[in-house]
Amino acid sequence: MARVGLREWLALAPVIASGRLARYNGAEGGPLARFEAAFSNQFGVKHTLTTSNGTGALIAALVAAGIGPGDEVLVPAYTWIATAAAPLAVGAVPVIVDIDATLTISPNDILRKITPNTKAIIPVHMANKVCEMDTIMGIARKHRLLVIEDACQAVGVSYKGRRVGTIGDLGAFSFNQFKNISIGEGGAVVTNNDEYFARARMYHDVGAVFRGHLDNANMPLIPGVNLKASQIQGAMLNVQLKKLDPMIGRMRRRYDIMSSILLKSRHLQIGPHNDLPNAAGMHVLFDTPDEAVAFAREHKRGVQRIYDSSRHIFSFWQPILQQSVVHPRMNPYDWAAREIEYEPNMCAASLDILKRTCRISLGENYPMPLMRYLTRRMVGPAATDIGHLVPNTSYRNS
Ligand SMILES: *Cc1c(COP(=O)(O)O)cnc(C)c1O
Repeated sequence: MARVGLREWLALAPVIASGRLARYNGAEGGPLARFEAAFSNQFGVKHTLTTSNGTGALIAALVAAGIGPGDEVLVPAYTWIATAAAPLAVGAVPVIVDIDATLTISPNDILRKITPNTKAIIPVHMANKVCEMDTIMGIARKHRLLVIEDACQAVGVSYKGRRVGTIGDLGAFSFNQFKNISIGEGGAVVTNNDEYFARARMYHDVGAVFRGHLDNANMPLIPGVNLKASQIQGAMLNVQLKKLDPMIGRMRRRYDIMSSILLKSRHLQIGPHNDLPNAAGMHVLFDTPDEAVAFAREHKRGVQRIYDSSRHIFSFWQPILQQSVVHPRMNPYDWAAREIEYEPNMCAASLDILKRTCRISLGENYPMPLMRYLTRRMVGPAATDIGHLVPNTSYRNS
């Protein structure tokens, strides 16, 4: 994540001095509008709508796309619970799909989980690792499904030259404390579709259409909830957006250097990636869970076995697995066209992969020599001997 510091602090001063902290309070051309224009431009997408957080962005995207009761939405077994909770918030049900060794949703399992009730897929780009979007978009087109990308954990990362989040029908981003753009809480919806954008805007501002959410388009009105971001968030976002691409560049360089070191190892297997030339997230796979546990124990700094360190696995989503709902008569599972069942031992392939996988931090905010040293230690004594073969001079200052 990009560091928060003096620049963000300085950017807040004029906003506070202006007294215009709310989105629609005489500040229409303020920091939020500037951020949305800059983000759209940088990401190559027509519309950006800032929201209070990433979960709200996902829900607004689902509403915009017209997903609702009776619909099944495919979500991966490895993601933050918000991805699975969002369909429930609009009356649809999540159907949980296996991941593959890339740690992202398995296109093969998508094909197995599609039913006549499936309406949308939410591919999640986990920990800066990108989904196999070409295959997923092909499946979606063939089966007439919408694709809503959850790019909350991969803000700014690219798949084959396009920013993730801008490839599907809609994309959702999070800017919370732990994400690539880090402002505490925040999010955004992006789309190239004018109608989806108008619906997301109406929904995110309680249907207060007098604020021009329709841009004079003749569209059915909808009420909504309040998911608006503040100008305080906007001011921080503008600063953080400038830090994004340099930070992704540091991740990319560290990925290349660290993987060139890890490739010398006989016992470490670098996890596959759906777009290697753009890789900005790293994991290693072992043959057995025990080996992964031992590796994580030995290399604490920046290494975590995913199964031990993450609440991002479906088996931890208690409210979802229990199918509990906010009100007994607002029960999406009653509205579903078939019985939906979740079992703790479903998606066994995902659990198996996550138990054998360690995530390796690219240490984008740490000096390259430290990351090189830590990576060589992972490979063991042999790596020290071949260390001089690893190119380093061109990266000295990054
Ligand atoms: C963080 C996250 C969200 C939700 O974002 P918030 O801003 O915390 O609401 C959704 N999906 C994934 C994969 C996330 O990591």
